[in-house]
Order: sequence, then structure tokens, then C-alpha cells
Amino acid sequence: MRETDTDTDSLVTIVGGGVHGVHLAVRLLQADLVEPCELCIVDPSGLLESFRRTCRQCGMAEFRSPFVHNVAPDSFSLRDFAREHGRQDELCPTTVGAERPTVSLFFDHAEWICDRYDLESIRMDARVTTITDTGRNVEVDTTRDCITTRWCLLAVGHGRSFTYPEWATNLLSSNPVTHVWDPTFDPDAIGETASVGIVGGGITATQLATTVAQLPGRDVVLFARSPFRVETLEANTDWMHFSGVTEKLHAHPPASRAREELVTEVRYDGTIPPYVFRRLQRALEQGRIELERSEIAVATEAGGTVVTTCQDGSAYCFDDLICATGFGSPYDGELFRHLRQQSTLQTGYRGAPVLDDDTLRWMRQNGTPSRIAVSGVAAQQVLGPFARNVIGAKRAGTLITGFLESELDAEKQEVEL
Ligand SMILES: Cc1cc2nc3c(=O)[nH]c(=O)nc-3n(C[C@H](O)[C@H](O)[C@H](O)COP(=O)(O)OP(=O)(O)OC[C@H]3O[C@@H](n4cnc5c(N)ncnc54)[C@H](O)[C@@H]3O)c2cc1C
Repeated sequence: MRETDTDTDSLVTIVGGGVHGVHLAVRLLQADLVEPCELCIVDPSGLLESFRRTCRQCGMAEFRSPFVHNVAPDSFSLRDFAREHGRQDELCPTTVGAERPTVSLFFDHAEWICDRYDLESIRMDARVTTITDTGRNVEVDTTRDCITTRWCLLAVGHGRSFTYPEWATNLLSSNPVTHVWDPTFDPDAIGETASVGIVGGGITATQLATTVAQLPGRDVVLFARSPFRVETLEANTDWMHFSGVTEKLHAHPPASRAREELVTEVRYDGTIPPYVFRRLQRALEQGRIELERSEIAVATEAGGTVVTTCQDGSAYCFDDLICATGFGSPYDGELFRHLRQQSTLQTGYRGAPVLDDDTLRWMRQNGTPSRIAVSGVAAQQVLGPFARNVIGAKRAGTLITGFLESELDAEKQEVEL
């Protein structure tokens, strides 16, 4: 243990072992800011498992972002990995920018990075229930033990917050209706000759519809009320550079309604990249998917099936009705809700954390920065529309390792004096 670490279980604890948690861990280890024994990742699902599951659940075959957006600090690490393993054919061409990796290439490379840094050995298999900033340390309560740590990095993604349409709320506990992000949804459990309704008009719904419709025995109806919008990425690429353009966000008060609205305005939510749109067009032309533009008004369970009536009066009966209607608010996940109610950390509009724009440290109610920093979608009011993406993890990694380096140096000098 280093001299700065006097009375804590770990120097840095990362909550969440997804893309963001893994990238942060690698950055800290690579920069020698922590020894492996001083670092802990708490995640009950396994490293990257939650993201792997969501990709599988929506039938995603390849990434929307280019290969340079990977979990390693070196942008070309994934391309080199593909070359060394003879897998260049898993880099998919695109009309703009660099090639995109297949899902299996992305995760095999990510797993290789996790193995290189032996991250599994520092993972605690537990869910964090609450976090308390005590001033000098942070107490992290988990379903197993309580960890005392000097610094805590929150990287919990959306934390199981997803949205259902109004008509589905009474049916949530019933089998035929589910959400694509529900951890229990298994696309492989859909019957070979099932009739399947899919609700949504963005990348997730269209990807899922084309995947489910691959089996010719199935009847697939896609409920997409608005015209499809095709965009290569989730926002203008200017936002990927995190300089200049993010000043537009920082001009407004932290965690404000103005910042939240600006992020919503510049994110191309509900859009489809060209390669997914082409697949959808083909499936529609071949009659493998039926498109329904009218919105579902009522859905009723009937003996293991669900009957839907649309606003234009048309009716359907489905064995499975899957909502691909998006994630909920990133500040409404279990942990964030708990922290909002229980802690002395500042929150703003709709519960957004008040973060320092230069370090992503969560501000205390007394105006000082806490020992907790945030990476991922919950940092979008600082980093903009790509905060949740792999490139957002890289930016958060730069800001967080930047401030930690000087803080750890200062703490070390304090001990030496
Ligand atoms: C289908 C899909 C495709 C995407 N494609 C791309 C793409 O092509 N390019 C791109 O750049 N981005 C893409 N993204 C966006 C983004 O990269 C992913 O959402 C990514 O998973 C975000 O990583 P994360 O670590 O923030 O969250 P997650 O991957 O959700 O990881 C969060 C982790 O935190 C853990 N956790 C949650 N709560 C707790 C708790 N209380 N205690 C302990 N652990 C907890 C979870 O178990 C999970 O493992 C995509 C997203 C989705 C859903």
C-alpha cells in the first residue's frame, strides 16, 4: 500500500464495471496512480456483462461508433487486436469515418484488456446500496460488506431505469408484454412461429425487429408512430471533441434545466444509422415486417397473448409484445435516487448531480467538491450528448485521472510532512 493510504480498505472504489468503470480502472492502473490492491470495482453483474446483455437483447451485430472508440486507453488497440487475431473482416465499412467493430470483436478485445489488467481479481461481486461522503473518506455500503475508500467513482450507467408507454403500465407483471432492457427478456425464448409486436422507431426497435423477423415463421409488426430519421451517430461529431462546444453547456448553471434541455436538443435520440435502416427497408420490402404507424391505445392480456387496439381502430393479437421505448432518466436509477434523498451532495433539475465541470467531482451542499466523481450518462450535463458513449468514458478518464493525480500527490506530501 502507498503511504497515502492509511485507514481505508481501498484507495479508489469504482461502482459499476461497464465500459466506463472498466476504462477508468485501466486508466488509473496504466498511469500508476493506484496499485491493483488499492483499487476495487463493485459490480454484481460481472465486468461488461450488463452491456453485453443489452447488445444481445436488441440483436445488435456491430457497433455504431468507430473502432477507435474502445475500452483501452490506446485508440488503435482494437484495430491491432483484430490484425493480430486475423479478424480484420470484423471491422465493418462505413460511409463516414473509421470502420466499426462487430459486437463480438468489441467484447473479445475488451475482455482481453480486462485480462491484461486482471480486473476480475479486483471486482467485488456485490451491489452498492448507499454511499456516504464523510469528508476525509467515502463509505460504500454494499450487499456484502461496507468499504471505506478514499475516492469513489460512480459509473452505473442508467441503473436499470427504462420507460414503458402509458398503456403498458397495467400489464407490467404479465408475461406477453416486456421491455427490451428488462434483464429477464430473452430474445431466444421467442417462439419460432410467434406473432411479435415491437414498439418503437429508433435503432433498438428496428434492430430488434429485423433480428426477430429473420425466422420466416414469425409475424412481426413494428409500431413506429413517427417517420424514421437516419443519422450515422447520436449527435454532431463536434460534441466528440469535448472542447469549445461543451462551453455552450457550461455557460448555464450546473445541473440546470437549461443544460438538460440543451443535451436533449443536440442528441439525435430515436435515430437509426444507415446500415440498420437499409436492413429495415429490405425486411419491409420482403414483407418480413409489417409497419404500423398508428399508436397503441389499449392493450389487454388474454390467455397468454396480448390484444392491442390502435388509435385508428386496427387490432392485433400477439404472443409477445416488446417495448423498445428507451431508457428512463439517468438520475432515476436506484442508487442515484437513494443518494438524492439521503446524502449531503447537491442535486439540481430532475435530480441531476451538481458536478464540477473540470473534474466531474460531485459538489457538496456546502459548495466544496466531494470525494465522489461521476462518469457515464449521468455526467451528460458536463460532457454533452456523447457522455454515455465509449468516447465519453475516455474524456471522463482524462478529467478524473487528471484531478486524482494531483490530489494523490498532495495527500502523499501531507503524509511525508
Ligand atoms: C444497445 C446499445 C448499443 C450501444 N452502442 C454504442 C456504440 O456503438 N458506441 C458507443 O460509443 N456507445 C454505444 N452505446 C452507449 C454506451 O457505450 C453503453 O450504454 C455503455 O454500456 C455505457 O457504459 P456504462 O459503463 O456507463 O454503463 P453499463 O454498461 O450499463 O454499466 C454499468 C454497470 O454498473 C453496474 N451497476 C449499476 N448499479 C450498480 C450498483 N448499485 N452497484 C454496483 N454496480 C452497479 C451494472 O451492473 C453495470 O455493469 C450503446 C448502448 C446500448 C444500450
